[in-house]
Amino acid sequence: MTQAAQRIVHRGGCHCGAVRFEVDAPAAIEALECNCSICRATGFLHLIVPASRFRLLAGADALRAYTFNTGTARHLFCGICGVKSFYVPRSHPDGYSVNVRCLEPGTIESLTIREFDDTRRTESEARVRHLTAG
Ligand SMILES: [Zn+2]
Repeated sequence: MTQAAQRIVHRGGCHCGAVRFEVDAPAAIEALECNCSICRATGFLHLIVPASRFRLLAGADALRAYTFNTGTARHLFCGICGVKSFYVPRSHPDGYSVNVRCLEPGTIESLTIREFDDTRRTESEARVRHLTAG
């Protein structure tokens, strides 16, 4: 296993603290910035992981869901403070997308941001499909 693939535990959550989670990911985070309507509006920075690397610690009862368009993505936000700290993305309904802006900064060694071009959705999804594999 290369050093880049070694994973540590990052913690995060919403603004008010009702929603708390852990995610296993490298210390050097590679995030996606998407230019679709909702990601632009929320400034969401995507860390996409398989469901097995995400653990909701608190706040299941505080989460509200918003869906639109294909209805595949489940946009989850805190019903108290309104912050969307993670959700189920359309590109990876088998995993989670964690908002890097909602992680505690202490465990993040570096952050590399790549573009996800929603106007070329098919090619963009093909390029990131591996993120929930294994
Ligand atoms: Zn909250």
